[in-house]
Amino acid sequence: MTGWSLGPLHDVVDRIEFGQLPLEEALAGRLADTGRPVHAALARWTEYAVRSYFTAVAKIPALPGVPLDEPLEPVSRMWARQRGPLKPGDPDVYEEVVGDRRYAGHGVRELRFVRTGSVAERPGGEPDRPRDEAEIAVAVGVLAGGRPVLSPKWERKPLRLGRFEPARLVRLVEIGCADASYRVLFEGTPEEAFARYDTSVEDRIDAVIAGGTYRPGQDCGRCAAVADCPEVPSRPGFLGIAHAGLPRRSWSMTTGRSHRACPARAHLEDLFLPRDGSIENTEAMVRGQAVHAWIERLHRRTPQRACAPDDTPAPHEAWQCGRWAVTGLQARLGIQMIGDHALVCPLRDRPDGAEAHPEHSVVVYDPEADVVVIAKADLLYRVGDRWTLRETKTVRTLSEGDLLERYPQLALAVRIAGAGVLPGAEHCRVELERLTGSGPVVTELDVTAPDVAARAQRVLEEYISPWYADAHHPAKPGKACDDCPFTRWCPAAKEAKDVKETTDGKKGAGA
Ligand SMILES: [Zn+2]
Repeated sequence: MTGWSLGPLHDVVDRIEFGQLPLEEALAGRLADTGRPVHAALARWTEYAVRSYFTAVAKIPALPGVPLDEPLEPVSRMWARQRGPLKPGDPDVYEEVVGDRRYAGHGVRELRFVRTGSVAERPGGEPDRPRDEAEIAVAVGVLAGGRPVLSPKWERKPLRLGRFEPARLVRLVEIGCADASYRVLFEGTPEEAFARYDTSVEDRIDAVIAGGTYRPGQDCGRCAAVADCPEVPSRPGFLGIAHAGLPRRSWSMTTGRSHRACPARAHLEDLFLPRDGSIENTEAMVRGQAVHAWIERLHRRTPQRACAPDDTPAPHEAWQCGRWAVTGLQARLGIQMIGDHALVCPLRDRPDGAEAHPEHSVVVYDPEADVVVIAKADLLYRVGDRWTLRETKTVRTLSEGDLLERYPQLALAVRIAGAGVLPGAEHCRVELERLTGSGPVVTELDVTAPDVAARAQRVLEEYISPWYADAHHPAKPGKACDDCPFTRWCPAAKEAKDVKETTDGKKGAGA
């Protein structure tokens, strides 16, 4: 299965622009292509996104000196620029390459970034995607000074470049396929483009090239270098499964839960397809998120200090943290839970000899399974020289039963703590903090006990194995569709809905 939400779109647009196919034919041809099968939902999204792309393009004003009946021509070769060292100690040659969609003619070069979401500027609001100034600077530098790449796609660097042809004007545009929006990111002469590059390049060099910083997280699953990354520990056998011959993937507890509900949903989450924003969370879920966000904010204060019983939100009847807003009973319950947290706050006894890392990302690579595991711990903290991973859950009432089964996130925490990938490796502990309607409860799990480790492994296996063996991601339409943000793209969800409506209609007619 294709693993990129815009891969099929570029194939279709290539067929239209370079193969001279009409849109309908190009769509039909790509989607029937059996070489790289496309998930039914991805196919539907692609059709929508290709139409959006051309709708947006038609709205972009023509550049000066470009006649309406002679628009820019698509360019098949990528553009790249090679530069010498910018400061002492830099590598000999930097290569800056731009992909996406390229167009030229009448002394103009234009690059169009294609985005899955919207790029519309909303009055008083943030666009889906903030402008990335470093990305813009590099792109306009290449637009102004780049040459066509002659090397085949997979040939090793350095790239072989063609002849430089100066442009009189360059333009950088981005296109949002979710709503056929566009945004002109830069338009100007090559001199203006180089000036823009020069003002932003220092930051970029420091941050990306010379800084040598690694920030393991969500993107590691797509990174070709993850196996050699100094910041991602490699743990053969971490998942306890043998390689299935599928391409490298990433897995998180969310993937596991989504896959259990509906394999297609897990796949579409992986692809970052646009979501339906009107799906409503339950009140309890929103309250849980609001409490989490509030406590996280307390733990991020500088200087770091313990949470106090009166560090609670106000007013009692309605409060908000980030995008999570609660009212009435949920607002009062949330305040009680946050106040209760102060009684069990891990920083309460030794605020000076402690440190806390809320929402701590942990990434582990299992080379045997070729899977990157991504976890986000609610809190990683140290008191003295003891490190602990703490998961916090908010529940109305305390329930009995196996904690690892009830909270699979905890099973993953046990595995991570046991794999020695955290600071204070051998002694890292795992705790569950439950904030309930009747008070806080903290339970410690003994990660060194063989039966705890074995149970955690068993719980994880139930989530991982079906996902791991699945190469087709079939939809499981029905109840899973109720809170799924991707039903719009999913033919199976629509069929199930149509059938349900017909049946309900018959029932209604018969009554
Ligand atoms: Zn606290």
